[in-house]
Amino acid sequence: MKAAVVRGFGEPLVIEERPDLEPGPGQVRIRVEASGLCHTDIHAAHGDWPVRPNPPFVPGHEGVGVVDELGEGVTRLAVGQRVAVPWLGKACGRCEHCLTGWETLCESQVNTGYGCDGGYAEKMLAWADFAQPVPDGVNPFDAAPLTCAGVTTYKALKVAGVRPAQLVAVSGVGGLGHLAVQYAKIAGATVAAIDVTDDKLELARELGADILIDARKDDVGEVLRQHGGAHAALALAVNPAAFEAVNAGLRRGGKLVMVALPAHGTVQVPIFGTVLNGTSVIGSIVGTRQDLAEVFQLHAAGRTKVIYETRPLAAVNASIDEVLRGQVKARIVFDLGTGG
Ligand code: NAD
Ligand code: ZN
Ligand code: ZN
Repeated sequence: MKAAVVRGFGEPLVIEERPDLEPGPGQVRIRVEASGLCHTDIHAAHGDWPVRPNPPFVPGHEGVGVVDELGEGVTRLAVGQRVAVPWLGKACGRCEHCLTGWETLCESQVNTGYGCDGGYAEKMLAWADFAQPVPDGVNPFDAAPLTCAGVTTYKALKVAGVRPAQLVAVSGVGGLGHLAVQYAKIAGATVAAIDVTDDKLELARELGADILIDARKDDVGEVLRQHGGAHAALALAVNPAAFEAVNAGLRRGGKLVMVALPAHGTVQVPIFGTVLNGTSVIGSIVGTRQDLAEVFQLHAAGRTKVIYETRPLAAVNASIDEVLRGQVKARIVFDLGTGG
């Protein structure tokens, strides 16, 4: 099977031919059909974060495909079933976090495409308890971006406790943001979308955003404050300055939800404004299996639209460059099912 492998941080990925994998106890093997390119995979390949993966590794945590072999003891999934393999590859199931609905905070978790090989491959392994069944009628190319971009933004809105009639700012309308706009609309909010390219702002408008803010020329905080200030702001742009800009547009009691993970990122949060205005800064990491099930359920019901462009896995390095140059409409999904 073919896989795209990170051999060293900052180096181009290498397409390798590898032997097929045998699933261990509790695992399944998946014939991957579609695999999304999340900006996180680029951070992984560049070694951007304090906790780094160990090359060589196969990135990818939006892999979707069909189960083709069951490991010992697996009864939850069947051969032929379509599943998605998210960032949360597995968690312990026993700790305080796992037992209180916060498995995404488990300290023993293994992350797909980071702590174990991921979806940039024709075949991959997954732990059966964490591979998410994809409902009938949801195609693998839609399912792939939902598996991280979807669940992450859906969860970020839950964490912010967004209610109808609130103003939600979505900073960065990329892979994550184009779904965030839609979930905020489903929650009944008014949505202000912020980006730095005309195409992304136009996409946000098509997806239902009510207010468009061009961070190249507009003062983001000022525009949001003119609208009364945001009840919640999702920071999805890979740029610390964008976090600060949107934080300045919160209304009193508003919540900044940090989601993007720029390399070595730190932001300045003014103490006076935060205290006097009673604002919060919250971190939000992906979502649980239940959150992903809900994301798939909404999509199966026709309530979300996934914007993607397909590429062959062989184009992995060019695809990464496209994302870094901001040239992708929303998400690139590698097509592994048709000989790409
Ligand atoms: P992306 O590259 O598809 O989207 C980023 C968007 O931000 C682009 O549309 C870009 O034009 C826009 N942008 C750039 N500068 C901006 C600015 N100054 N103001 C407003 N918008 C600006 O990336 P993505 O795949 O959506 O991922 C975004 C970030 O979220 C990455 O850092 C990724 O690692 C992180 N992420 C976090 C989680 C989590 O669980 N917390 C999950 C997935 C991804
Ligand atoms: Zn991701
Ligand atoms: Zn745990």
